[in-house]
Amino acid sequence: MAIKTFDDFIQRMNRMKDNLYMGGEKISRTDERLKGGQRIIKETYDVAHRPEFEALCTATSHLTGERISRFCHVHQSTDDLLAKQQMTRALCHRVGGCIQRCMGIDAINALSVITYEMDQGLGTDCDQKFRTYLKYFQDNDLVASCAQTDPKGDRLKRPHEQADPDQYLRIIESRPDGIVVRGAKINITNTPYADEIVVVPTRFMTARDGDYAVAFAIPADWDDVKLLVRPAYHHKRKHLKAPISEIGDGEAFIIFDDTFIPRDRVFMDGKGDPRQTAYAGFLALLFAHYHRHSYTGCKPAVSEVLASAAALMAEYNGIEKEAHVKEKISHLIGTAELVFAAGQVSAYRAEVSPSGTAIPDEILTNAGRRLAGEEIYNEYKTLADLSGGLVATLPFEDEFFSDETGQLANKYLQRNPNISTENVHRCFRGMENLILSDIAGVLGMLAGIHGGGSPQMETITMMARYDMGKLKNIAKYLFGIEPQLPMYTRETVTPRAMLDRFRKQSKE
Ligand SMILES: Cc1cc2nc3c(=O)[nH]c(=O)nc-3n(C[C@H](O)[C@H](O)[C@H](O)COP(=O)(O)OP(=O)(O)OC[C@H]3O[C@@H](n4cnc5c(N)ncnc54)[C@H](O)[C@@H]3O)c2cc1C
Repeated sequence: MAIKTFDDFIQRMNRMKDNLYMGGEKISRTDERLKGGQRIIKETYDVAHRPEFEALCTATSHLTGERISRFCHVHQSTDDLLAKQQMTRALCHRVGGCIQRCMGIDAINALSVITYEMDQGLGTDCDQKFRTYLKYFQDNDLVASCAQTDPKGDRLKRPHEQADPDQYLRIIESRPDGIVVRGAKINITNTPYADEIVVVPTRFMTARDGDYAVAFAIPADWDDVKLLVRPAYHHKRKHLKAPISEIGDGEAFIIFDDTFIPRDRVFMDGKGDPRQTAYAGFLALLFAHYHRHSYTGCKPAVSEVLASAAALMAEYNGIEKEAHVKEKISHLIGTAELVFAAGQVSAYRAEVSPSGTAIPDEILTNAGRRLAGEEIYNEYKTLADLSGGLVATLPFEDEFFSDETGQLANKYLQRNPNISTENVHRCFRGMENLILSDIAGVLGMLAGIHGGGSPQMETITMMARYDMGKLKNIAKYLFGIEPQLPMYTRETVTPRAMLDRFRKQSKE
């Protein structure tokens, strides 16, 4: 059966070689500090076996006809895109934020489009190799991280212009049996507890950047791959157990130390075949695009988790009927709805690519993702505002349970007499996890703004793709410059435009 369990996942983790480095030590994947991240992955396996989630969290593989996890599926239709978005939202509610398995699904969807187009356009066998890999990925229900972000050195210079040529991951040798890569990928979520690392380029490549046009997939414990790990987790609770306190995160700074990648796992090799370089920007943007579409599922959930916590805190503090409270919470709900709606409509306007993979509309996806990124700090501000200072100064749990201080500590937690002090305590403790923790900083605030690309990247994408000439026709007509106004409509646009950009630039 292609749908596996969390136990299967943990057994695989236990068998992996130790290539994780944390705090000056080499550690294994059983390390306590990685348990919180694995707890999040557990949710993605468990729901596939629960009848009420089955329709949403599983799908039929277009390769084998087998029932598979939706986290391994290539979207075949608008319905698949909508289901992925809704699944992401529903599961993020269950873990209080990022579900951490979307990078894999976004990477395989992007590769399914590009490798097909490369085979069609260049006569390569990249898609054939990718489909063999995808079948293995689906049959084993694997977890993948997607390593896109390079260190990038000087931000204004292209890969081949950098003083140190390794600032972007590059192919140093291309030979018949495979490639050897050197460089790093940084800020990569979930890799310390992923089965596979899927690597894609981070940006548009010019004809002189062929060595950097590279995509492949390898097991996360592959030889000559080192993962420098930064975990985030909550203080252990002794008394008030709660789902939110069990979760965690593991980020990786991945070093590829002249790593050999066998040919059957190489999906793009711009050094061996410079014609493939044209597809690097298309792949980079398409992964970012699918990831931004996933954000239209997870970010509404984050806003809803925050709105839900704000509403509960306001009730416990006795201020829920105050006008300013309603006004503030309405912005959180409004942002969630608008971001989700943008992703939904971009799915309705999807285009099916020649490979059969559905690609959502780019303008709407980016507009939704950017709104989410821009609003994230306002949302945390509302929570900090409505909670008051105790979230930041709350004594340790023990003091509320000790014989010496417990009774008085609880007495002074009492607010609304209808709410037990234990629930007030739980609310503050949960709020501490949600807005004042290591995880809040990493997955809520920083990933909230930068994950999938900084807001500026969404602006660049939208402005590159929007037909300004057509837009200006409205003003030209209204101002009497043109006598006629053709009916204004906007066509669906997708990252395919990057191919045209490369061709144009190659001719210049
Ligand atoms: C918690 C977290 C998890 C992440 N997970 C993943 C993951 O799983 N996989 C993955 O591949 N990536 C991941 N990322 C990386 C994320 O995609 C990047 O952080 C994001 O794309 C921004 O890149 P950067 O961090 O290099 O910042 P920079 O690119 O250095 O951005 C910093 C600022 O510089 C500006 N800037 C950059 N270049 C230019 C330029 N040429 N001209 C003008 N302004 C410029 C940006 O707009 C921004 O304002 C994650 C990030 C975070 C914070």
